[in-house]
Amino acid sequence: MARRKTRQVNIGGVSIGGDNPVAIQSMCNKDGHDAAAVIEQIKMLEASGCHIIRIAVPDEETADNIPVIKRETCIPLVADIHFDHRLAIKAIEKGADKIRINPGNIGGYEKVRDVAKAASERHIPIRVGVNSGSLEKDLLERYGGVTAESLTESALRNTGILEDMGFEDIVISIKSSDVRICIDAYKLLSQKTDHPLHLGVTEAGTDLTGSIKSAVALGTLLSCGIGDTIRVSLSSDPINEIRACRIILKSLGLYTGGVDVISCPTCARTGIDVIGIASRVEELTKDIDKDLKVAVMGCAVNGPGEARDADIGIAGGKGEGIIFAHGEMLRKVKEEELLDALLEEIRRVT
Ligand code: SF4
Repeated sequence: MARRKTRQVNIGGVSIGGDNPVAIQSMCNKDGHDAAAVIEQIKMLEASGCHIIRIAVPDEETADNIPVIKRETCIPLVADIHFDHRLAIKAIEKGADKIRINPGNIGGYEKVRDVAKAASERHIPIRVGVNSGSLEKDLLERYGGVTAESLTESALRNTGILEDMGFEDIVISIKSSDVRICIDAYKLLSQKTDHPLHLGVTEAGTDLTGSIKSAVALGTLLSCGIGDTIRVSLSSDPINEIRACRIILKSLGLYTGGVDVISCPTCARTGIDVIGIASRVEELTKDIDKDLKVAVMGCAVNGPGEARDADIGIAGGKGEGIIFAHGEMLRKVKEEELLDALLEEIRRVT
């Protein structure tokens, strides 16, 4: 897939843009005053495949915890600041690897400029994160509300402030909760700038709804070569955001690693508990890094073919199934032993 050429930006050792792979992000939802809880969550997200983590910094105490959190974790830390540009400057001084500001609510030109000056001195990037919920009033009036054009103009206006000062370490996001506006806005923006783009649908919803909306928007954009880093925003455990990001990228061939469970939708021919086995396999293999295709198929119609194409698979019969590995039929197993037998084969190759 040809990807749009963007400038490279380094975020605490992780580069995005240029020819770098699309980086996965999430946001910590633990109380920033409780450094131990934040550290524990970041470590779990890191183990799940998160490349960059963001924390909200709503006050000075949280900013003071940045060095403590950074000492105990390995992935780059982004400080998310709203309303108070002094907090952004403090987060920079405390060692944040990137700052995310929402220009619509940070307080105007001078304050954006002060944050940029501090970031420039420490050589850290700024994400200009424009959101549909906090667009500048004059743009809302001129464009008659939140549109792809108003979001894009806000992003360009605010990146322009940074660029005018010679600050170029910029990442841009223009998030809307409306999937179509999101797609149109990022497409428009990508024609007007070569700064790397952080893709996301804001307030996307709960696990299923949010993952689907994000997959539609991010999948559409990524398949056009647009997007350098992604976040799936879910009202859920952030671990599920990482899983959704991985699946979106893996579906487009932009990510290698992790177990891809292929399972049939079941029908009247299904001879084994495909739904139960597939769900368990997915859950039990979610932390495996190795790139592996595992098939769970319900009968002899498509089952053996799909199972043979996968690295490891089962094709169900009546109350039993056949285990396949790399195209070879290994053995017949009773249904009650199928899950364990499949996991045993997975463990053998991981
Ligand atoms: S693989 Fe077999 S059981 Fe599964 S949906 Fe297809 S025909 Fe039905």
